[in-house]
Amino acid sequence: MRTSYRSSFARIAGPAAFVLLGAGAAVGPLTGQQNMSDVEITTIELESDLFMLMGRGGNIGLSVGDDGAFLIDDQFAPLTEKILAAIAAVTDQPVRWVLNTHWHGDHTGGNENLGEAGAMIVAHENVYRRMNPAEFEDLVGRSGQAPRAALPVVTFDEGVRFHWNGRHIEVTHVGVAHTDGDAIVHFPRANVFHMGDTFFRGRYPFIDVDSGGGVDGVIAAANFVLERSSEGTRIIPGHGELASPEHLREYRDMLETVRLRVAGLVANGRTEDQVVAAGPTGDLDAVWGENPERFVRAVYRSLAGS
Ligand SMILES: [Zn+2]
Repeated sequence: MRTSYRSSFARIAGPAAFVLLGAGAAVGPLTGQQNMSDVEITTIELESDLFMLMGRGGNIGLSVGDDGAFLIDDQFAPLTEKILAAIAAVTDQPVRWVLNTHWHGDHTGGNENLGEAGAMIVAHENVYRRMNPAEFEDLVGRSGQAPRAALPVVTFDEGVRFHWNGRHIEVTHVGVAHTDGDAIVHFPRANVFHMGDTFFRGRYPFIDVDSGGGVDGVIAAANFVLERSSEGTRIIPGHGELASPEHLREYRDMLETVRLRVAGLVANGRTEDQVVAAGPTGDLDAVWGENPERFVRAVYRSLAGS
């Protein structure tokens, strides 16, 4: 999902001490961050040293060990303190790395806090560009300027591997999908993936065409993971509960069905509004969501290039 980038916290003392100065300035189209006091961070153990954290915003992945905590995404700034408390419950090591799956504020909102506390932030080069648009006049699409401490300090184009906490952690950019800077993270030994927002379990995805995303890339991302999956594979989606390859396969099939239908309408010269009016998801909405319009428009725009 997308929200504008804004931090409402400042670090006052020590890596884990944060104080709320004022929240509510940034309200995304889907998730406000005015009040996070009700949010609880839930920790799901995948292995004794590998976890999924759920709070509000994008799901978090966490590898812990003697080398230090390796975090995948960090939700919203007002949740940093709670996220650090959840991490402290499973390790006494600090957060050394933060890997952002893409630039959206519900996945990078904690960057500034964690960056100031000493974590190294890593992301695809286009995440850096979209969080730092002042430097890139040619940047197409929406984005917001992030504070310096929130910016990635290491970027990659195709992918990068970490050898950390006794694991090989493989990070791959599969092409334009949810945005133009998505990363899929694979923990091969644990047979675990974190797909960021290329996977919304059980519902229509948000495809951020304005940030360079496209439906074909989302399908490619699903296929990338399915090709590397086995029966026991566990998949952390960007949003929704921990998933299996079967959940991802159903999602991929839904995407392909809608893509095919919309492509047919586009080939017949239908406009975007006509495609929406044709209801190409009609029989799918009961399962995948009652409000398919945003998704259908994104599929149309992916294919028609408008
Ligand atoms: Zn997103």
